[in-house]
Amino acid sequence: MQINLIQSKTLLTRSSGYLKEVCSHSLNPYGGCGYGLSSCGEGCYVRFNPWLTQGREWGKFVDVKINAGELYTQTAEKEKTWAHKRSIPFTIFMSSSTDPWQPAEKKYRVTRAILQAMITCPPDTLILQTHSSNILDDQATLLKLPCSLRIHISIEGDRNHLPGLPPPPCSIDKRISALRQLSEQGLKTIACLSPLYPLENPHKFFDRLKNAGASAVIIDHFIEGDGTAEGSRTLKTRLPTAMRQIQEDSIHLSYRTQIVNIARNYLPVGVSSQGFAGHYSC
Ligand code: SF4
Repeated sequence: MQINLIQSKTLLTRSSGYLKEVCSHSLNPYGGCGYGLSSCGEGCYVRFNPWLTQGREWGKFVDVKINAGELYTQTAEKEKTWAHKRSIPFTIFMSSSTDPWQPAEKKYRVTRAILQAMITCPPDTLILQTHSSNILDDQATLLKLPCSLRIHISIEGDRNHLPGLPPPPCSIDKRISALRQLSEQGLKTIACLSPLYPLENPHKFFDRLKNAGASAVIIDHFIEGDGTAEGSRTLKTRLPTAMRQIQEDSIHLSYRTQIVNIARNYLPVGVSSQGFAGHYSC
């Protein structure tokens, strides 16, 4: 793993493409992702972005934006004004192309510095997304944030291992436990099945998420969910083969419909980008 400490010039990126529906800005404390060689890294759509990887192998580098906390403070007001002039709330999605609580965060605490800066200069809404129970390290700071907050815990399915893929960044039990602990503190948590993996026992899984305190689930298939209409980016990876080995029909979009219909018996469901934008239905 190559770790590069960098002074970033920009931090808050004005949304374009599908993110426009979700937020006014995205914020990535790191470039690259230390979880890139885990199972989630296989289908991670960011790995196909040459502008971000700059020719480097996904999962083998992390750029640490060591000045991110200061940069947030310097630029947040201007970006909030930009959003409000367009009559849109200043909504930050953290993160769209990295994990804020990846292993490097234990050492560099870039995400923590940003969250602390947000206590003084909050967005209107903050959406956090992580695969890691390390988010619990910042529970105290999350509770101090004076803004609307949604915490997306990525849990793609109820199996820790898919055939031929590496292990996940964090076990399912640990992620559900983190979701439970955050929910018990009164924080709004959403389980994010993105991309949806074949489920062993969907009824049991959604019941477990409901009992852990999830407010909703987001269900997103790699088809339409990886930035292409046909899922063509993901089809180049080992993920569809692994999914097919478990359940043949799970690689088709109809599987998403099937699972959405089951999930609605337990929790409000947001489908694909609508879910990321906070729109759920029962
Ligand atoms: S944690 Fe998120 S950003 Fe990192 S490799 Fe996994 S899916 Fe990609």
